[in-house]
Amino acid sequence: MMLDDTTKYEIFRNRDETYSGQFYMGVRSTGIFCRPGCPARTPKAENCLFFQNAEGALKAGYRPCKRCHPMNMPGEASALIKKLINLVESDPERRWSEKDLLANGVDPSTARRQFKSRFGMTFSAYVRQCNLAKARQCLAQGDSVIEAQLCAGFDSPSGFRVAFAKTFGQSPKDVKISPLLIDWIDTPLGTMVTICDEQEVYLAEFTVRKNLQGQLEKLTTAYKRPILPGRNDITMLVETQIKSYFHGSLKSFDLPIKTTGTDFQNGVWQALCDIPYGQTRSYAQLATAIGNDKAFRAVASSNARNGLAIIIPCHRVINKGGALGGYAGGLDKKRWLLDHEARVSKSSNRAAAP
Ligand SMILES: [Zn+2]
Repeated sequence: MMLDDTTKYEIFRNRDETYSGQFYMGVRSTGIFCRPGCPARTPKAENCLFFQNAEGALKAGYRPCKRCHPMNMPGEASALIKKLINLVESDPERRWSEKDLLANGVDPSTARRQFKSRFGMTFSAYVRQCNLAKARQCLAQGDSVIEAQLCAGFDSPSGFRVAFAKTFGQSPKDVKISPLLIDWIDTPLGTMVTICDEQEVYLAEFTVRKNLQGQLEKLTTAYKRPILPGRNDITMLVETQIKSYFHGSLKSFDLPIKTTGTDFQNGVWQALCDIPYGQTRSYAQLATAIGNDKAFRAVASSNARNGLAIIIPCHRVINKGGALGGYAGGLDKKRWLLDHEARVSKSSNRAAAP
């Protein structure tokens, strides 16, 4: 049976498991390949290409997806192969030697033979392909060639260049750095700016926020990626959800978010996400929620450093006496957001009443 690419793409969109093992899909933007039935979001069609088998995808420099485990398909992968694949996934930095395999109770020659007969390459070739794919992601994110070489576990620069060129048909230094994309959303409270890449949202802020430029510069420095205007699936997902929030039809966000903070800040931001829609907490209560009663000042400053306005609901934190406290986007916005949530909660309670 011959399926054309459009049909194959549809099979992926429908998460149709029945075709699992019959073909594979590589995603150019992430360097990952999947099997039909993968639960991950289906990328845009122009980023996808198809392979008849896992070997083809590996040789083209794609890494197996951690959600759908395409290397385990079709179903008859031996326990040994599954074990080896899991070992590599659990410790991607390691250079697997025969000694490591033996230490994990795996006979190296059995591993070599089974891998070869199933994937047309040895286990060590498989590990090398995974590492090259990882190196390519490093380069695309702005790492230097030497960093990518070390990340791929190559001692020699020329060995790395040759292996890389053989797999990807280009030299490591020619890999284009993928930019972070900036886009704008109109809301009842004015324009919001978003920064996304192919996988996550990094920033969502009102354009009037103090020191927005400084925040953007911090992102380009931290991730070594330029910021360019553009839209992708994530941008559109963020826009849809923000608009639904303002419309009153969305109460909690379901977005892949990327935060750039210390462990403490990340803890505070997580605790913010746990405050239910339509409710408020004081800075002191938030400090208690993260198990650090005395830290309410640090909590307040982490709150102010939240770069994902509304999505991480820092507007739900107010002063102990009920005064609004601060808000980077302006207190009028904070008031509006709290009133909006109170209004929506009330009308949905009314609707639920008998
Ligand atoms: Zn997948």
